[in-house]
Amino acid sequence: MMTFAPTPRTLAACLIWLAALTSPAHLIANEPALKATILGSGYVEPLPDKYGASILVEAGTEKLLFDAGRGTTIRLNQIPVRYDAVDKVFLTHLHSDHVVGLPDLYLTGWVLGRRNTPLHLWGPDGTAHMARHLVDAFDFDITIRRDKHTRYAAMGATIDATDFEEGVIYASNGITVIAFEVDHGPVKPAFGFRVDYAGKSLAISGDTRPSDNLIAFTRDVDVLFHEAFAPEAYSAAHPDVPYLVIKAIESVHTTPTQAGEIFAAVNPKLAVFYHIDPGEAFASELRREASKAYDGPLEVGEDLMSISIGDEITIQRYLP
Ligand SMILES: [Zn+2]
Ligand SMILES: [Zn+2]
Repeated sequence: MMTFAPTPRTLAACLIWLAALTSPAHLIANEPALKATILGSGYVEPLPDKYGASILVEAGTEKLLFDAGRGTTIRLNQIPVRYDAVDKVFLTHLHSDHVVGLPDLYLTGWVLGRRNTPLHLWGPDGTAHMARHLVDAFDFDITIRRDKHTRYAAMGATIDATDFEEGVIYASNGITVIAFEVDHGPVKPAFGFRVDYAGKSLAISGDTRPSDNLIAFTRDVDVLFHEAFAPEAYSAAHPDVPYLVIKAIESVHTTPTQAGEIFAAVNPKLAVFYHIDPGEAFASELRREASKAYDGPLEVGEDLMSISIGDEITIQRYLP
């Protein structure tokens, strides 16, 4: 596996090299190069309008999923994208709110999607271990469907899992994925991702408190998706949660004020909050506090908000 020094110069050199190796076969002028759809913009709470953290990135023939929080398959159904078309999943870290939708995608992609190839999974240390146990956990169902009844393709019930380290972890059909380490307190390792395709780019923070490494890897990216925890709105919405618990949550995440400083340092063409609580109180705290340091384009993410990155960046909200 390649290792990667987090400096803009080495990042640029590596991307030029990878672009030469994996240039997209056909890219029509003015066609958006990269498209990202927020499948889940929410936190841990099970809410019908804010599913768990998950972003689908589409570029050329590639469909890559970043985290698989609660409801990932339901949101894919709504777009719609075939379950079997999403067979490459990248995990920022192994907190349950980022992976709890994975068994559903794995099994529904096989059963309904008729996937006849492995689900490819990349994640930090512990990912391959989790994947082995996931396959074991569903052994009863898999054995029946594979061997005794409907006889679905055996390969579709497998997971090809890779534990990665910081660096380029995927390069194919012109798209590259770089994992960079972030700072999620005791959750080590935890990563964010940068995706480059046809001269366009986006980055996803994963869960992190302010991280200089994130800034080094994502500077001048077209679109930056960043998490945030809004303590004021959270305290008001959850008066039963003790102050010390709120401080503990805040200590491993990024406040809206800190996010504004990060957006100013990264200088994206568009900054997007994701992995956030619902409601206008949260959204207005995010906007108000971030604007103290950052005056560039900013969106508060919603489920099924779709962002196309081409000559222009366009935002589309989901209309049922
Ligand atoms: Zn987390
Ligand atoms: Zn999280």
